[in-house]
Order: sequence, then C-alpha cells, then structure tokens
Amino acid sequence: LVRLTGVQKHYGNLHVLKDIELDVARGEVVVVIGPSGAGKSTLCRAINRLETIDEGDIFLDGQPLPQEGKALARLRADVGMVFQSFNLFAHKTVLENVTLGPIKVRKKSKAEADKRGKELLDRVGVGHQAGKYPAQLSGGQQQRVAIARALAMDPKVMLFDEPTSALDPEMIKEVLDVMVDLAERGMTMIVVTHEMGFARTAANRVVFMADGAIVETADPETFFTNPESDRAKDFLGKIL
Ligand code: ATP
Ligand code: MG
Repeated sequence: LVRLTGVQKHYGNLHVLKDIELDVARGEVVVVIGPSGAGKSTLCRAINRLETIDEGDIFLDGQPLPQEGKALARLRADVGMVFQSFNLFAHKTVLENVTLGPIKVRKKSKAEADKRGKELLDRVGVGHQAGKYPAQLSGGQQQRVAIARALAMDPKVMLFDEPTSALDPEMIKEVLDVMVDLAERGMTMIVVTHEMGFARTAANRVVFMADGAIVETADPETFFTNPESDRAKDFLGKIL
C-alpha cells in the first residue's frame, strides 16, 4: 500500500534519509524505532509530503505521491497523521475538529459528517466531550480526538509520530488502547514510538532506523529477543 524506493533526503550537508526502501502492505502495522535524530519524523513527513525528498519514489496504492494542487490535498486526506502535539483547532469544538475535514475536503453533508464524527468520538471514548473545546480536555483525550479526526477522513493509512510521548503516564494507555483497536480492525499503520509494549503486541514488523538509514527490519519477537545489528543491540540495551 505504501512503498518507498531509494528515498534520499538531505538538509544541507546532513544526509537524513539514506536510500530508504520500505514496503508496507495493506493492513500491516509497522513500528519504526530508533535513536533521536535517526530520521523517523522526516520519514513520516515525507510519506505525507509535508517534506520533499531529493531522490527516490514514494507510492501510495501504486500511485506516485502528487506534487501539488488538488491531488496533493487528496493524498493528505488519504494519509491520516497524528503527531506528538495534538494540533487540534483551539477555537473549534471537539466535534467540529472531527467534521471539518470531511465537510471541506470529502464534501460530506454536515448531518452525515456529524453522525460519523460522533460514532468515531464514541469509539475512541470521548463521545460525551463532543461539545467541549480542546483546552477543556486532558492530553490523552485530545490525542484521542486527534485520532478520531484523522479517521474521519477514511484514510488508507495512518501515520503516528510519537503520539504518546507528550502525555502523562496515566494517559498513555488510553491512547495506545485506541491504536491497538485500530490495528485489530485492519488499519494500515506506520507508528513511530518508544512504547515497546505496543510494538510487541500490535506490530507485524519493526523497522529500526539509525543515522538516516534502515538498519534492521524484523518481526517484533525476533527484533526484541535477538537483534542482529550492534546499533539495535545498543539501542535496546539503553531503553529496555
Ligand atoms: P526524534 O526521535 O528526536 O524525534 P527523529 O528520528 O524523528 O528524532 P528527525 O526529526 O527526522 O529525527 O530528524 C533527523 C535529522 O534531521 C536530525 O539530525 C535533525 O536535526 C535534522 N532535521 C530535521 N528537520 C530539519 C530541518 N527542517 N532542517 C534541518 N535539519 C533538520
Ligand atoms: Mg521525531
């Protein structure tokens, strides 16, 4: 569903993505881990075309990523993204945050968008907060709204960039539970996270990045019990 071939990116002299090859199948959950500065966020942003690449190709559903205009807006609608910071619209209610995209981009009627929006808010456990403003919610609730907002666009793939790392510990689980549920429902997901519990339980594959390159790819069991590369061993030694 998502394919990257020979992807290269530089920031000046810094080579942040080095010949990235990645193929994510429909329904697959890929967890991307690695040290700070490895290029994980840059990789996510490239897939959503929030970041340009210097060389290589990225395909979504067999189509190369569009460069601009309407096709680019459609791509952004097809690729849901959830960031570390929740990025909700502060002056809109929770429900409005979730229905704005479907109404503006997907051209749904307000009634239809409201109905689906409420279903999604219920699903992520914040249905009763629909009329509130983001600032009235906890961080964990806001992040679940952000997930519902992305899902409201009926994305083909969901990208998560450290969705729980700005949360207080007691809120992490409620967000991870929503993500596990999403994975079980068959959503294609690329998840950058330091939550190794999530990686072990929900990932089909772990991709370990360091210094801009994919160093190792393995199923979670193999990766956590028997990593191949010294870089991965070193990294796991520090975090586990
Ligand atoms: P972290 O775990 O800290 O989030 P990361 O793996 O997500 O790290 P990236 O944010 O992708 O890493 O950054 C990769 C490298 O690119 C880093 O060295 C970073 O400093 C650099 N970088 C990121 N964005 C820019 C930018 N806009 N201009 C210049 N350098 C950048
Ligand atoms: Mg990052």
